[in-house]
Amino acid sequence: MVNCRSRNCGENAVISVRQPLCKGHFISYFESRVAATIKKYKLADKKDKIIVACSGGKDSTTVLYLLNKWFGNVTALAIDEGIPGYRNVTLEDLRSFCSRGRIPLKVLSYKETFGFSLHEALRHTSTAVDGAQSKQRLGKVTVLPCNICGTLRRYLLNAGARGFTKIATGHNLDDEAQSIMMNFFKVNLGLAARLGPVTGVIEDSRFVPRVKPLYFCYEKEVATYAFLQNFGIRFNECPHARISFRAAVRDFINDLEQHKPGTKQNIVSNFLGMLPKLKRKYAKTASMKHCSGCGEPASNELCKACIYINSLRESLKLKEVGAAAVINSD
Ligand code: SF4
Ligand SMILES: [Zn+2]
Ligand SMILES: [Zn+2]
Repeated sequence: MVNCRSRNCGENAVISVRQPLCKGHFISYFESRVAATIKKYKLADKKDKIIVACSGGKDSTTVLYLLNKWFGNVTALAIDEGIPGYRNVTLEDLRSFCSRGRIPLKVLSYKETFGFSLHEALRHTSTAVDGAQSKQRLGKVTVLPCNICGTLRRYLLNAGARGFTKIATGHNLDDEAQSIMMNFFKVNLGLAARLGPVTGVIEDSRFVPRVKPLYFCYEKEVATYAFLQNFGIRFNECPHARISFRAAVRDFINDLEQHKPGTKQNIVSNFLGMLPKLKRKYAKTASMKHCSGCGEPASNELCKACIYINSLRESLKLKEVGAAAVINSD
């Protein structure tokens, strides 16, 4: 058994972060790292009205716990995509967590908002393409479940966060390294410019700034913190995640990290060095347009969410409407 090396503590170590640390010293280390990120990048302060995008998983529950502890008055926002055996479980954990901490919880579901759950959408549009059962045909385009889900999810998070000054997410260092490399591999520097501890390249009154307090925390550190804090969450993964492009990039980076420790940190640090230039470059070309279907910020006439929603409603023989119909009805 290795002992904690923080100030000659000598307790049993639970994790090695530069040096072996015991439970108490790791919790202090982790919290001070998150607090330093919030301070350095001005992610939140007491005047903010913060909503936390929650999945019921380790990352977002950690953010919800810490922001509530430090700033109080936070609200949790969850999206119920309708993924049987997964989202119902994580939502149950989140409801219990919020009820124990007396944190208000707002849940928006695909079914109530768009008229279909993700499960229904995938079942009805499912066509085996090139032997890959999990890919879906949507109009003339073949997409992965995460393409549809991620777009609709972002859309609902933005809609649900209206009226708040910040939306905090649980993205950690591993997630960010993956997003950076995904955009590099897809040669999409315009999208990469939106990354960083605070997302976006331009200000838009309809777009609530997204902040990432766990930006410099490794996934394994967040998992350890959530476990040690006994948040009462089950550590399960969406069944669609393993066939996503992100999963392929995640495995690739994890492999590199094994061979060359520090790879993830280096990807993010180098990216942060070039980010101000990228933001300046893409702010000039970023459009201030709004979608003609739903009014949300968009780079084209119709936003991607409206394109997916209309296509899916057509396949499911539901009445064709833009995403705005339900969102703006309350
Ligand atoms: S892994 Fe993909 S399908 Fe599952 S919740 Fe995330 S975006 Fe949706
Ligand atoms: Zn210690
Ligand atoms: Zn739209």
